Amino acid sequence: MAKRDYYEILEVSRTASVGEIKKAYRRLAIKYHPDRNPDDPHAEERFKELAEAYDVLSDPDKRARYDRYGHAGTNGGGFYSMEDIFEQFGDIFSGTGFEHFFGGGSGRSARKRKGSNLHIKIELTLEEIATGITKKIKVKKDVTCPACHGSGARNKNAVSTCPNCRGSGYVREVRSTFLGHMQTTVLCTQCHGSGEIITEKCPKCHGEGVTKGEEIIKIEIPAGVEHNMQLSMRGYGNAGPHNGQPGDLLITIKEKKHQFFRREGIHVIYDLHLNFADAVLGATVEVPTLTGKAKIKIEPGTPAGKVLRLRGKGLPSVHRYETGDQLVIVNIWTPEKLSREEKDVLKKMRDLPNFNPPKSHAARANKGFFDKLENLFK
Ligand SMILES: [Zn+2]
Ligand SMILES: [Zn+2]
Repeated sequence: MAKRDYYEILEVSRTASVGEIKKAYRRLAIKYHPDRNPDDPHAEERFKELAEAYDVLSDPDKRARYDRYGHAGTNGGGFYSMEDIFEQFGDIFSGTGFEHFFGGGSGRSARKRKGSNLHIKIELTLEEIATGITKKIKVKKDVTCPACHGSGARNKNAVSTCPNCRGSGYVREVRSTFLGHMQTTVLCTQCHGSGEIITEKCPKCHGEGVTKGEEIIKIEIPAGVEHNMQLSMRGYGNAGPHNGQPGDLLITIKEKKHQFFRREGIHVIYDLHLNFADAVLGATVEVPTLTGKAKIKIEPGTPAGKVLRLRGKGLPSVHRYETGDQLVIVNIWTPEKLSREEKDVLKKMRDLPNFNPPKSHAARANKGFFDKLENLFK
């Protein structure tokens, strides 16, 4: 299913401030809360969509990536559980009186520590970038402990209810402020919100609930990615201790240097070296492209510096709105070592008047070259 534009989902303009985005999210989250729309099967979907849009647009870093690269720059996994969303609400609804409406029931597990993000680099050839590619990468990461399934306890009997919070994960605290006594609910420091304490730790993970392991991850890289661009896959990072949310996998794209091509945005540039006689008489030559080979017709009298354009043989932009071209720059091949006969041929050519540029030509040719350079990347 094609994803909708995040700004459209939140009903804000592309220049909206963080405050405006937050306000829009609050308003729409209340409107589409699944508890409020029990008869609408799409409410939860819409609700998750809102959370995802807010998650990206409220983070300056993710927002910048989204503005530049669209959905490709911000998402791979689409890992948004209801628990995730409610955790997010803790921050944006605090003090509005809506905390309970949103916090509902998930307190026991919502406050577990999240796994850390995992960073990897992927090197790609221009050919791979041209088509987009799926890579299976083996990554070393923290995984849920297989011995205790993440609980951190030696066995089922090695867990007991936290005596400090009596299993709720939270304790009430009364603070004196200049407004009078204020009662707040804070996370239990003894069990860190889990409501349980471990009496005997799992010997494999020493009570952490995670161990070192590895996983093969399928990464779908869209066509047109750029050097140093970062993609993220939500929920594919390190496992969280005690079955907390996993972190994200952050993938930095590295573009390998190409044997023939130089990349200029969505265009690729190829230096063609022509035999002088072919340039003068005209010829058909073959050039490599990102997808194979192409034949180019060289018109008689083609000068060095001329740029030929192979339309659509460049790279797609990551938004996929357009595809670049392959620009073929004509050079004349100049041999270095010559035989006596070869030298004789050239000496004869040198004296023929037609092989010498007229005096008025040099300035004109130069101007043409700079005009062309300017037009090249339009
Ligand atoms: Zn364990
Ligand atoms: Zn506790």
